[in-house]
Amino acid sequence: MNQVSKNFGGVQAVKNLSFEVSSHEIVGLIGPNGSGKSTSVNLISGAVPPTSGDIFWRDQNVSKLPISQRVPLGMARTFQTTSLLAETTVLDQVFTACHTCYEVSPWSSILRTKSARAQEERQYVKAQDLVEFAGLGDVAGQTTSAISSAQQRLLMIATALAAQPRLILLDEPAAGMVAKERKELADLILRIRQRGLAVLVIEHHMGLIMEVCDRIAVLNFGQKIAEGRPEEIQKNAAVIEAYLGGVH
Ligand code: ADP
Ligand code: MG
Repeated sequence: MNQVSKNFGGVQAVKNLSFEVSSHEIVGLIGPNGSGKSTSVNLISGAVPPTSGDIFWRDQNVSKLPISQRVPLGMARTFQTTSLLAETTVLDQVFTACHTCYEVSPWSSILRTKSARAQEERQYVKAQDLVEFAGLGDVAGQTTSAISSAQQRLLMIATALAAQPRLILLDEPAAGMVAKERKELADLILRIRQRGLAVLVIEHHMGLIMEVCDRIAVLNFGQKIAEGRPEEIQKNAAVIEAYLGGVH
């Protein structure tokens, strides 16, 4: 994104923000509460339009495209709050997400033609693979409400991956997780990069950010105050002052 700003009435949530995420790269976006992290994710995913500035996706200016037109281009996101189908099994949740992404004419679906059945079979295998990939193989048959909140967060990632994105945006994926769960999440994020995806992760938990990110951008009052490798960010005086300083 290039020189992007977003105002909500009198509040400048994001000010002249520019940064990039490349394939095979995990970028962290950190900053104190209210610094504009979620707004940045909303701008990139198309949930809100920018007040000014442009958002580019693989050389295409997508600033004016709504979220529904960015998903097919390869952008996917998870939300800060859990958003799963109730009374559905883990496998069906991912299967449904796979299903909505493939196009079959309504008639072949209704008539259950051979090709529609074959396609459904492929989506089922794909859903099973994704559930395993996310480390949820053991709970594939349980309902989404019966699994732990950490597992629900992994499931949201598996659901986002069903759209076969090239970029995945994760808004506070480690919220409420204990150390062991954060480790599983970190491993999953690294596996996602291995698949060649770009990952943008917003997170409060510094340990996770420092462990998985190739690069970190730091926001304060909607502006980028630093950007660099984890070890550079840890030493950056402005960051310590604005962010880490408040923690100690
Ligand atoms: P973060 O995710 O870093 O905590 P946000 O991006 O949610 O920060 O918020 C940045 C600023 O923008 C805050 O001052 C917040 O109150 C404001 N803000 C975010 N979304 C809206 C909205 N939909 N309407 C009005 N103000 C908003
Ligand atoms: Mg937020």
